[in-house]
Amino acid sequence: MWFPFFRGLKYCKPRSFAFFPKKIRSQTAYIHIFRGMAQPPISLTNEELFEEVTQDHGPRLKDLNGLDCMYKSDAEKAIASHHKFPGIIHTLPEIHYDFFENNLFEAFADKRSNKYFIAISVSVSLILFDLFHRMLSHPGVFKNIGNATEEEEYVSPTGRYNLELIPAMTSFKAPKNADRCTYAGHITRLAMRYIFEHEFSHILFGHVDYHLSNSLTLLDYQTLEMDADCTAIARFSNLQMDLVEMNNAPEFQKFLYRDYHQAICDLVFAIYTTYLVFGDGDFKNIPGSSSHPEPRIRQLMALMTFEKIAQINSTKLQWGQLSHDIGETIGDAEKAYHLITGATFNPEPFNPEFYAKNPLPQTLLDNWALKVRKGLHRYTYKELAP
Ligand SMILES: [Zn+2]
Repeated sequence: MWFPFFRGLKYCKPRSFAFFPKKIRSQTAYIHIFRGMAQPPISLTNEELFEEVTQDHGPRLKDLNGLDCMYKSDAEKAIASHHKFPGIIHTLPEIHYDFFENNLFEAFADKRSNKYFIAISVSVSLILFDLFHRMLSHPGVFKNIGNATEEEEYVSPTGRYNLELIPAMTSFKAPKNADRCTYAGHITRLAMRYIFEHEFSHILFGHVDYHLSNSLTLLDYQTLEMDADCTAIARFSNLQMDLVEMNNAPEFQKFLYRDYHQAICDLVFAIYTTYLVFGDGDFKNIPGSSSHPEPRIRQLMALMTFEKIAQINSTKLQWGQLSHDIGETIGDAEKAYHLITGATFNPEPFNPEFYAKNPLPQTLLDNWALKVRKGLHRYTYKELAP
């Protein structure tokens, strides 16, 4: 069992999926000169502003399917309830969540006319939906979910996942067992919610405004991504535990919220696997060499964040047992990903020796504490971590 490799590692404080867009050309410069006179600002609709935000990525998706409507509704409910979050300093301006059309795995947050926009490529939901349903349709993994013996072994036609909606994915594969199918849909929904929460963190903690008003280095961007990952995980973990406590899920979904450990492990599965879509990357990169920490580094820091969450919620989460359960979950996730893509798991980043020799996680934490945190102060809507 390889999971304990990261146990005992020094915890890294929670810090940040977004792909920050290019700096916007103009925020409110809609003043046109006509016949020598300044004209009033043109009032654009939210849809028109969204189209402007995504103009380099693709047009707004006009007809959402039922699932995308559900993901959008989840996001809008979270936005509407933000003022109930602990540590909120002041009310956020309007935030709009919507989808745009292209075949790349893209999501980002941006600002126009003092409104925020969270833009998700429709390919994100299609790729994640395909990935989790294909995983659960193999009898060799997640044997504790539903009746796995109803599934048939297969050799995946996908070859591999990457950051593009590849044509092979049109051969959609769904689990035969009803509970496994429900579970795959549930994990997809969690992954979509996580991507929203990550982008929401970029807004909530002032990253978007900080980015728009300052000249940032690649190390600063990596630091903001780490912060968005970790703060999103912290907020989403609390939500999952609240759902277990309320115990009011519909009957057919009750098995999804039977205990705290299951709810957290499902979240780990959704987040950890979403990072897998980005591949291994060059996880030995030097600090500041790209806009995001490498996927394996993001997984490592996410797992350390879950350890911290367990420490904070020790009455609900027993880390000894939870770390074992998480190990089983990500072991199954890696095995399923290998079965459908052929990708082999490299556990090196989870080994303390790797961690000791590679400064990226600590460099990000130091950059957050010494520079970025100070810069975020004037933009954040929520108290920053100490
Ligand atoms: Zn991000």
